[in-house]
Amino acid sequence: MSELRAVRNLRICSKDCLCLFVCPTGATDTETGQIDFEKCIGCGACSKACPSGAISMVPYKYPKQQDKDELVIEKLRKVISSKVEQEQIAHYIFENGSDKEKILAKILMKSNRLITEDLYREAGYMLPQSDNTKKFLEELLEKDNTNKEDIKKLLELLDFN
Ligand code: SF4
Ligand code: SF4
Repeated sequence: MSELRAVRNLRICSKDCLCLFVCPTGATDTETGQIDFEKCIGCGACSKACPSGAISMVPYKYPKQQDKDELVIEKLRKVISSKVEQEQIAHYIFENGSDKEKILAKILMKSNRLITEDLYREAGYMLPQSDNTKKFLEELLEKDNTNKEDIKKLLELLDFN
């Protein structure tokens, strides 16, 4: 079996169901948008057939994340904080500004969010299997106002490397 699996980006899926027709194992479900990771054999037929480029092939098991110098992580966190703040300001303008300001604010909210996601990935938090994510979830468990059951379930389900 291939070391790859298919994942679908629901935002750009046009629901024309070609992936459903070509999948040899019935792993794709266009009703729920899910691709069953266990049924998928990583053949890539769905990805090649998809007219929207909505399906990507990803490794079944992610490699261990590269170690980063603490100083680099600290600097990345600072930039992340500033991007979060900028998104919040844009959100305020979106809620309270004129129609023209709302258009600009919406673009700023989105671009700041995308940059923040990239920076988090660089800082080691976006791979679900990373040690950082595990530590983060464990820290969340210690806090009072968190959904402990969901966090415990994630800790059980994720295959940390
Ligand atoms: S082939 Fe692509 S666009 Fe069509 S349903 Fe599947 S994922 Fe969506
Ligand atoms: S990669 Fe192959 S098995 Fe997996 S969902 Fe796509 S068509 Fe089905």
